[in-house]
Amino acid sequence: MPTRVIPLQDARTLPLAPPAAGVGAQPPTDVLGRPLRDLRISVTDRCNFRCGYCMPKQVFDKHHQFLPHAELLGFEEITRLARAFASLGVEKLRLTGGEPTLRRGLESLIAMLAAVRTPDGRPLDLTLTTNGSTLVKKAAGLRAAGLNRLTVSLDGLDDAVFQRMNDVGFPVADVLAGIRAAQAAGLGPIKVNMVVQRGVNENQILPMARHFRHSGIVLRFIEYMDVGSSNGWRMDQVLPSREVQRRIAAEWPLTPLSASAPGETAERWAYADGGGEVGFISSVTQAFCGDCNRARLSTEGRLYTCLFASRGHDLRALLRGAAPLSDEQLAGAIAGVWTHRDDRYSQLRGTAAATAEPRVEMHYIGG
Ligand code: SAM
Ligand code: SF4
Ligand code: SF4
Repeated sequence: MPTRVIPLQDARTLPLAPPAAGVGAQPPTDVLGRPLRDLRISVTDRCNFRCGYCMPKQVFDKHHQFLPHAELLGFEEITRLARAFASLGVEKLRLTGGEPTLRRGLESLIAMLAAVRTPDGRPLDLTLTTNGSTLVKKAAGLRAAGLNRLTVSLDGLDDAVFQRMNDVGFPVADVLAGIRAAQAAGLGPIKVNMVVQRGVNENQILPMARHFRHSGIVLRFIEYMDVGSSNGWRMDQVLPSREVQRRIAAEWPLTPLSASAPGETAERWAYADGGGEVGFISSVTQAFCGDCNRARLSTEGRLYTCLFASRGHDLRALLRGAAPLSDEQLAGAIAGVWTHRDDRYSQLRGTAAATAEPRVEMHYIGG
C-alpha cells in the first residue's frame, strides 16, 4: 500500500493571482463557467476515528504529526474568509475535518458564521459533517449556536462491521444515539452518509436502508473514492452506485427525484411506497464535475478548488502578511483563484490528463 502522505507543513502551495478587478460587480465563474456557491471548511485535521478509507491507522499512527495549534486558522480568520467568500456568491458553508466537533469552542465559530450574510442580506446555509461520536453531548449546543442541520457519517449498523471500519472500536449504538440527539435538538433534515466498500460493508446496504426508511433521515450511499494518497484505493473495491441502487430497488421500488439545487452531489430517489428518500453520490462511476461549485478551505488556510487537488493557495499568508489586505483585496484574490480554475478530476480519472501528483488527504481539506 502506498504510504506517501503530503506533509501538511510543507504541502506545496500555488501562487495567488493578482486580485481580480471589479469584484462585486459580477460573481466570478471559473474557466468552465461554474460559479462559486459552496465552501467547505476543515476546522481540524485531527480525528478520533481511523476509517481505513480516510485515515488508515498504519499511516496516521502515534508518530503522525498533526498541525500545531498556531498553524490552524483562528475563528476570526475563518469568519473573515467566509465573509469574503459570501461576497463572491457562496451561499452554503459546511464545517468538516478531521472530526469538526473535536475543535475546541466550535460553538463560538458557528455563532460567528451564523452572522455572515450574502450581499443581499441572507444568512448562509450553515451545516456540518460529523462522525456522530460527540453528538449526544454536543447536538443541543451546536443548534443553539446557530447550526442549521448536519450530516452524519455511518458505514453500517452491524457493530462488528462498524467497529472494524472506524478501527477504534467505537460502538454503533453511540452514533445512533447521537443521531437521535441531533433530531431532538431540531438539527434537521439530517442526512446520513455511508461509504460503500465492496466486500467490506456491502452487506450493510439493505439493513441501513431498512433502518432509515420512514425516519425523515435521508440516507446517501457514497462510492469509495481515490481521495488522498494513503488509503491504497483500488477500483475493484468500488461498488458502483448503480449496483447499490439495483439492490435497494429490488427490495423497495424507487422513483427518481429532480435535483434540489444546481451542483448537488447526490442523485436523489424516493421510495415508491412513501418510505422517504435515498441519495447516491457517484464520483467514480458518474462524474459530476460539470456543475461543481465547491471550494475547500484547509485547516491552515489553503484554498483547494478540487477534492482531488495536490496543491492549494495560501490564503492564511494573505491574512497574516506584513501588509494585510483589505476585505475587497482579499475577495479579489479569491476571485482570481476561482477564475483560473479548470479542475475536473473525476472526469479525467484514469486518463493521462489526471494529476499524477500525490493528492492532498481528505481529513485535511474536508469531505
Ligand atoms: N469526520 C467527519 C465525518 O466522517 O463525517 C467529517 C470529515 S470526513 C473526511 C467527510 C466525509 O468524507 C465522510 O462522510 C466520509 O465518509 C467521507 N470520506 C472519507 N474518505 C472517503 C473516501 N475515500 N471515499 C468516499 N468518501 C470518503
Ligand atoms: Fe475521521 Fe471522518 Fe476520516 Fe473517518 S472519515 S477518519 S471519521 S475524518
Ligand atoms: Fe468537483 Fe473536483 Fe469532484 Fe470534479 S473531481 S466534482 S471538480 S471536487
